[in-house]
Amino acid sequence: MGVRLLLARPLPGTVGEARRVTHVFPEPGGDAAQLDAYCGASFGAGELELLDGIRGMPCEPCLLLAPPPDGQLDGGAGCPDA
Ligand SMILES: [Zn+2]
Repeated sequence: MGVRLLLARPLPGTVGEARRVTHVFPEPGGDAAQLDAYCGASFGAGELELLDGIRGMPCEPCLLLAPPPDGQLDGGAGCPDA
């Protein structure tokens, strides 16, 4: 089982339109009042619009930092001292 991921973006009016990118969040346990995206941005739960897919602009740092959606972390990236 991998980490479950949430996709969400800030609600209209909470940030500038250009910053309304779709962030990736690790699913919080319980009812967290705050969500921290992989890129380091944090939002109150009431500030986010949950999405079932990426809409509009994705947050590129989030995409780079989030684990693969299927949870398969093979750890095979990189081959040090080959
Ligand atoms: Zn992000």
